[in-house]
Amino acid sequence: MLKSTAEQYRGLTYPFGRGANPAPGEPHKIADGVYWTRFAMPMSLDHINLWLLEDEDGWTVVDTCLNLPSARDTWEQLFGGFMQGKPVRRVICTHMHPDHVGLAGWLTERFDCELWMPREEFMMCRAMRADTGREAPDVAIRFYRAAGYDDAQLDEYRKKFGNFGRAIAPLPDSFRRLVDRETITIGDRYWQVIIGSGHSPEHATLYCPALKLLISGDQVLPRITPNVSVFPTEPHGDPLNEWLRSSARLREILPDDLLVLPAHEAPFYGLHVRLNQVIEGHKADLASLFDYLREPRRVVDCFPALFNRELEGDSLGLATGETLAHLNCLLGRRGITRRADAEGVNWYEQIPESSV
Ligand SMILES: [Zn+2]
Ligand SMILES: [Zn+2]
Repeated sequence: MLKSTAEQYRGLTYPFGRGANPAPGEPHKIADGVYWTRFAMPMSLDHINLWLLEDEDGWTVVDTCLNLPSARDTWEQLFGGFMQGKPVRRVICTHMHPDHVGLAGWLTERFDCELWMPREEFMMCRAMRADTGREAPDVAIRFYRAAGYDDAQLDEYRKKFGNFGRAIAPLPDSFRRLVDRETITIGDRYWQVIIGSGHSPEHATLYCPALKLLISGDQVLPRITPNVSVFPTEPHGDPLNEWLRSSARLREILPDDLLVLPAHEAPFYGLHVRLNQVIEGHKADLASLFDYLREPRRVVDCFPALFNRELEGDSLGLATGETLAHLNCLLGRRGITRRADAEGVNWYEQIPESSV
């Protein structure tokens, strides 16, 4: 059982406390037919929240955790215990990231049920999973060289290439598409699908007006800012613009008094406050980066404008993607220019007299 002492922090209210943490195999009841379970993950983001929804004679599950033996064990414990031997009728994945989709194929195969997911998430996940085991392509090497990586950093990148699919069980060969603003029925409740973008191409959130709940996936998180990155597959993409637009759209569509059920950390009230914080945070980052570009700089030179910590190991790739997202957004607003030098390295610089 979780304590029921609400905790306030930075404008948000956490009805179960900020550190609330249901024990594995012992889901916590959020509302009639809606249960919160948490799976452990062996990485710095050390858990994911999954949602179990009572459905006709069985369960709908939202998100699945990584394809790891430990996560399959936790599922087994739930099947035999809390879920009372009733079958999973449907697997919903909010988006394509391995912590969300990792066991979708395993679950749908085991229970012979459908995977429900937005189309771009399904397709992109299958495409990226197909890269697993391949060598890093030349365009990707050129992309990171253009960002200012040295040879050692490029070698590191080569070594890690294709890791994406390692914790994802093979996806099913067909799926049921989730479409923006459609209403789906789970048990005796209506849930509306609302799609966001920027963190992933077509991220689904699920809104239940009757229960005043929003299953937000990674689209709205209470503390960490979801990664918004440019990758070598789409070097000219502007995911930050999409992120800002979807955050504003969620604020417009959704009421403020929902209990937000995020994929990471604890459920909270304060949806609009949180969306505003995220939007304002990125606006401030854009302004400081714009300011920093009064002299020409490479991507790797821009980190101090956006991150106030030393970057090492895995964080280099994330920082590069995030920085590029901000640079591409400034380019789209015609606030800065980009030019390549003789070595193919890109230099970014503020356009005099412009503003963003
Ligand atoms: Zn994600
Ligand atoms: Zn996640």
